[in-house]
Amino acid sequence: MPLFGLSKSDVDKMEAKRDVKGLVKALAHKKDADVRRAAAKALEKMGDKLAVDGLVVALKDPEIDVRRSAAYALGKIGDAHAVDGLIDVLKDKDSDLRCRAARALGEIRDARAINGLVAALKDQDLTVLRQSVEALGNIGDARAVDVLIVALKNQDEKVRRPAAEALGKIGGEHAVDELIISLKDRDSIVRSVAADALGKIGDPRAVDGLIVALKDRDSVLGFSAAEALEKIGGERALNELVLALKDKLKDGDSNARRQAVAYLGRIEGERALNELVLALKDQNSMVRIRAAEALGKIGDPRAVDGLGIALFDEDSMVRNLAAEALGKIGDARARSALTMAGVQICDVCGKPLLSGPSFKIPVEGFYNSPKYREWFDRNMMPRLRAKVAPSYITVDMALAEMRSKDKTSDSIVCGVCLGLFT
Ligand SMILES: [Zn+2]
Repeated sequence: MPLFGLSKSDVDKMEAKRDVKGLVKALAHKKDADVRRAAAKALEKMGDKLAVDGLVVALKDPEIDVRRSAAYALGKIGDAHAVDGLIDVLKDKDSDLRCRAARALGEIRDARAINGLVAALKDQDLTVLRQSVEALGNIGDARAVDVLIVALKNQDEKVRRPAAEALGKIGGEHAVDELIISLKDRDSIVRSVAADALGKIGDPRAVDGLIVALKDRDSVLGFSAAEALEKIGGERALNELVLALKDKLKDGDSNARRQAVAYLGRIEGERALNELVLALKDQNSMVRIRAAEALGKIGDPRAVDGLGIALFDEDSMVRNLAAEALGKIGDARARSALTMAGVQICDVCGKPLLSGPSFKIPVEGFYNSPKYREWFDRNMMPRLRAKVAPSYITVDMALAEMRSKDKTSDSIVCGVCLGLFT
């Protein structure tokens, strides 16, 4: 295409055709700044690798819009050939461009950018500084740890937050020490980001500091600390976490108890099973709700008695969640607890029929439905075979035995399972 007389509408056509080569040529069209601007915008949207060299040249364009688009596009493309050009731009007089360059370098993640980004930590513009901190975190090179620790002590919390996050990505002993200190930062977001970062690094040395944070009044921090301890894992972290949470269950503040129950539900079941069953009797209904919910997730048959009592709770949400939990546990005792409380359960999936409609299927129709037979073969036979093999060899034998024991005139099914009988 002849460059002479190239106009903005030509650029639009190139964009529509995704003509990257043409756009790169237009990007160098010295005579018309509008053409270069439009080409840069188009390439920014496309993010095509073929444009890298042209975009690097455009980083020096006299028009600021062109330089900005070029920097953004290069970050999107993420090609390491752009690193040197972007480092130069970190010294541009336009702060938005410096910011874009820092961000692009963070997306490219090439360690050659470290020195340039470290120098940018002295930038007067806070956004550039923050973006550089983030970029260093993305690159994840241990050489940046010392300067990031300096940033972690910056007087502006908007710098300390990404610094804590960046250190979490890089890790290392030195970072861990400083992040533990940041668990006591005066800014609550820095504190919880530090806890998240420590969880990500997973160094057991952070356990003590995180336990202190867990007991903090600040609920976000408590949540981050609990999560971090869970991630660090290991007997000690989990034991300490469970202990601290059990302690919180005795808290006079019902919010703290509710939170503790929710965390306990997140931790692998058994460690907190007794406490969760006890929490079903908490005076606060929100605590009981969380406990029933947690026990539903865990699905441990040892909670059946407690859940059976909760079926008579004054709060309907507790009753429903307890019924769901029992439905999920699904063994003979759970089923009988549900029937005793007058909760009907679906004869196919075993879920309690709480809010949705229930349907009666005549017992003959139930056992003779080909779709139910198929469902039974797929879902129940493997379990039966594992349990009582080899006496149940065929679906027919299993269904015949069920039919012989069934004294009801019809079966109750939920709306979902109804499809097996229509
Ligand atoms: Zn069902």
